[in-house]
Amino acid sequence: MATVTDAPTLDSNNPATGELLGAVPTTAPDAVQGVVDQVRAVAPAWAALSLAERASYLEATADVLVDQTETIRDLIAAEQGKPRNEAYSMELLPTIDGLHWIAKQGPKLLADEKIRMHQIFFASKRAHYVYEPLGVLGVIAPWNYPWSIPFGEVALALMAGNGVVLKPASLTPLCGDKIRDAFEAAGVPEGLIRTVHGPGTGSALVKTDVDKVFFTGSVETGRGVGEQCARMLKGSVLELGGKDPMLVLDDADLNHAIQGAAWGGFANCGQSCAGIERVYVDRRVAEPFINGVVEAARGLALGDPLEWGTEIGPMVDPGQYKIVEELVDDAVAHGATLLCGGPAEAPAGLDSETFYAPTVLTGVTHEMRIMQEEIFGPVLPIIVVDGEEEAIRMANDSDFGLGASVWTADRERGQRVAARLESGMVWINDHLFSHGAMQTPWGGVKDSGVGRTHSKFGIHECANVKLRLWEPSLLKNPWWFPYDESLGRALKEAGGVLYGRSGERGAALKSGLAPLTRVGARLARDAVKR
Ligand code: NAD
Repeated sequence: MATVTDAPTLDSNNPATGELLGAVPTTAPDAVQGVVDQVRAVAPAWAALSLAERASYLEATADVLVDQTETIRDLIAAEQGKPRNEAYSMELLPTIDGLHWIAKQGPKLLADEKIRMHQIFFASKRAHYVYEPLGVLGVIAPWNYPWSIPFGEVALALMAGNGVVLKPASLTPLCGDKIRDAFEAAGVPEGLIRTVHGPGTGSALVKTDVDKVFFTGSVETGRGVGEQCARMLKGSVLELGGKDPMLVLDDADLNHAIQGAAWGGFANCGQSCAGIERVYVDRRVAEPFINGVVEAARGLALGDPLEWGTEIGPMVDPGQYKIVEELVDDAVAHGATLLCGGPAEAPAGLDSETFYAPTVLTGVTHEMRIMQEEIFGPVLPIIVVDGEEEAIRMANDSDFGLGASVWTADRERGQRVAARLESGMVWINDHLFSHGAMQTPWGGVKDSGVGRTHSKFGIHECANVKLRLWEPSLLKNPWWFPYDESLGRALKEAGGVLYGRSGERGAALKSGLAPLTRVGARLARDAVKR
């Protein structure tokens, strides 16, 4: 459904060529509440469907993605600049697989769930968790994974019975609209998912009466979104920036670690929230590791994202490029050594000033901005450390806490180190990829955010977790009126009988027998009277 508006359109351009790819209608900020209202009108019919019915629409959406896979792949590559192979591996396949996971597991995770009432005084009661839709959710998305991030959140929201207003990033609006179109092509009711574009629409969406906001983006903006939601007493899930450390221990499989560093640091041109942004390598293996990473970085092919052989596309826009350039220049000015990389000419046939060759820096310190701020570009700063303790201490010396990785041949050692890292996710001998596995939770601690998306936790974030309890009304509750001393003594002794130390329970039962019997008899009389 097109957004009806008199406002101007928002253009989308290919960052590798400057070519205009298309335009979307914008929504005036003061019209966003109206869009939410329209979705709210459609949502109840969707919520009334059974879980199995909702799941079947998600499966049908997966089929649409399979059918349209090449078109969507090239839209992502052309609009955001990641190479075709990454459009498959980091965006499309994860969403197809994710839809199947949500369709299969969602009905189980959202089904009424019995709560055992183990306390003797609650024995008659039958309790359940019931997962009800929240209503309409706002999803605010970044440009770096313009497909998989919003797609997963929309799918989880739909599975839980909600409608969605999606605000795609202004650099990748076509991907946002295509997400809506894919669901609609699978038969999801028109109007259940609406997109809004244009200046001020993200902020306006948060201020509407949407029931919860899923925000993915920078710390600064996310903090404001969280504050606004808190003021309105509604929930928010905040997936914010990262500064992921990679800890290479002395017993790591070096070849695996070198290839992992290159992919984790340079894939998506380094523009991944949980990309590797800092490396701490043990002195005993530092030399071959650093040489290997430099060789790998130099070997990566810059080019048109639409060419199969391209490994590094352009950065998404000049603004992002400038941040990277500034941080690297600052590090070098303060004594860092640039081993390879830096600003690069656009490959032949392309028109872009945002190509940045994979860069490796050594001699960096935590006093430099590059080790504190998010780089969000293809840069790996490496620090040589004297052992595991120093690596852990430095890894935790950050305001961020999204992901982290430990590289070691010893699984137990890896797990010990993982337990000491302040982050939402730790991969041992891997990095980043698990956003593509919908069953695993995604999210951070510290400035990297609040709440979780994906997994059973992400599904439950989309629901009102309601308690539903049945009392058969055969006996009144012993703690109800009237109050007298017998009740007080019975309650006190019940505590001793049920929870006293093992040697003291007999004594509690003895002294509590009279008041407990009196209260029991009172309840029985009351039951007979009725
Ligand atoms: P951003 O904060 O500039 O924008 C994110 C989205 O918020 C965009 O759609 C934008 O239009 C919208 N927005 C802007 N101002 C807003 C406001 N006042 N209220 C509500 N919405 C507003 O971030 P970005 O540059 O698009 O994305 C890059 C950032 O996102 C990086 O910091 C990156 O680490 C982070 N990120 C985090 C994750 C994660 O899972 N933790 C994933 C991807 C990206």
